[in-house]
Amino acid sequence: MAETIFSKIIDKSIAADILYEDELALAFSDINPQAPIHFLVIPKKPIATVNDIEEADKSLVGHLYWVAAKLAKDMGFAEQGYRAVMNCNEHGGQTVYHIHLHVLAGKPLGWPPYQDRLKV
Ligand code: 5GP
Repeated sequence: MAETIFSKIIDKSIAADILYEDELALAFSDINPQAPIHFLVIPKKPIATVNDIEEADKSLVGHLYWVAAKLAKDMGFAEQGYRAVMNCNEHGGQTVYHIHLHVLAGKPLGWPPYQDRLKV
């Protein structure tokens, strides 16, 4: 898998506003927030897209949701609610090919969350 900007955030060669880190995952603020609170939870293991999640990765991907929920509780927005979503490939709006859970919060979120970028 080609190295991405997120590999550099994991190895700390690029700075990020890190909110949580353990041996499996890293959470950091999104550089271009789409809600009052917007951070990303990523596995340290590079997995390019949701399509590349293997059976052995199932607990790792569950761990990303556990980190999202922990931060939501710690940061005080769990009860009001939030969105935790992964974009996949072009039609999903994915731009960085290292899977990441977007966690968006801090206001009522519309659905769909983004303006259509691709007209069908
Ligand atoms: P995607 O479009 O792949 O679902 O989401 C990629 C996200 O990564 C975007 O929300 C974008 O703002 C964020 N992002 C891209 N480059 C950087 C960076 O260098 N630092 C941080 N903190 N976020 C980034």
